[in-house]
Amino acid sequence: MVSRYLVDGLMSLFFPADCLLCGKNLEPLNRSFICLDCWKKVKWLPSVCCVRCGRPLSFVSDKNLNYPSVCLDCRENPPHFKRLFSPTVYQGVIAEAIKLFKYNGKRGIIRGFIQIIDASINRFNLTSLGLEAIVPVPLHSTKLRERGFNQAKELAKVISRYLNVPVWSDYLIRVRYTRPQTKLRRKDREENMKRAFSIRKGAKNRGKGKRILLVDDVYTTGVTLNEASYEMKKDGAEVFSFTLARALEPQ
Ligand SMILES: [Zn+2]
Ligand SMILES: [Zn+2]
Repeated sequence: MVSRYLVDGLMSLFFPADCLLCGKNLEPLNRSFICLDCWKKVKWLPSVCCVRCGRPLSFVSDKNLNYPSVCLDCRENPPHFKRLFSPTVYQGVIAEAIKLFKYNGKRGIIRGFIQIIDASINRFNLTSLGLEAIVPVPLHSTKLRERGFNQAKELAKVISRYLNVPVWSDYLIRVRYTRPQTKLRRKDREENMKRAFSIRKGAKNRGKGKRILLVDDVYTTGVTLNEASYEMKKDGAEVFSFTLARALEPQ
C-alpha cells in the first residue's frame, strides 16, 4: 500500500502549501501557487487609456486635443496593430507571477491568469470583435527547447477556449534569434527585432481579410508586438493584440 505520507509528500512537490510570494498557507483547492490575498494586489490599468496602445491617459493633459483617446506616441507613430488590450500593470504580483511561470516552471500559476483573462474578456468586450484566429507571439526554437513551452501559446489557448476561436500556432514564426530585450534601449530594441518574424511559407495569405488577436505575456515597449503585427498586416490581416500585463513606462 502506498503510504499516505508519500502521497502527501508528492502532492506538496507539485502543489506547494505556501504562497510563493508571501509564504502564507495557500487556501484549500488553490492550485495557483499564489494566495488569494496576493492575487488581489494585482493592479489593473485604469479605464481611460489610449485606444491604440493601452497607455493610461491623463484627462487634464489630453482633454484639449482633437483625438483625446489616442496618445501622442500613437498619433506620431501609429502601431501596426489596431488596438492593444491589456488588463494589468506590469509590476508587483503580476510581474513576479509571470516570471515564476516563465522561468521557474510554475505552470500552475496559469490558474490565476485564467481568472484575469476571464475578467478581461468582459472588460474589453472581446467577443464583439468578430475575431477569427488567435496567434501567440512565437518563441525561437532554441528558446522553446530551453523553456519547454511558449507562455504566449498557453495564454492564447485560454483565450481560445473562452472565445471559441482557433489558435494558429503554425502561422507566424520566429526566424531570427534575438538578444534579450530587457537590457536594450528603445532604438536598439527596434533594430534587434527587425525581421525577427515571418509568416510560415505554407501559410502565406492565410491572414487575408482575417481579424486576428495576437497574444503575448507582457507589453513593455511594444516593439515585439509591433514587429509581429507588421508581418501579419502585410499578409492582409487586421491585427488586435492582447497581453496579460503592460509596463507603464518603457523600460
Ligand atoms: Zn501570498
Ligand atoms: Zn498610444
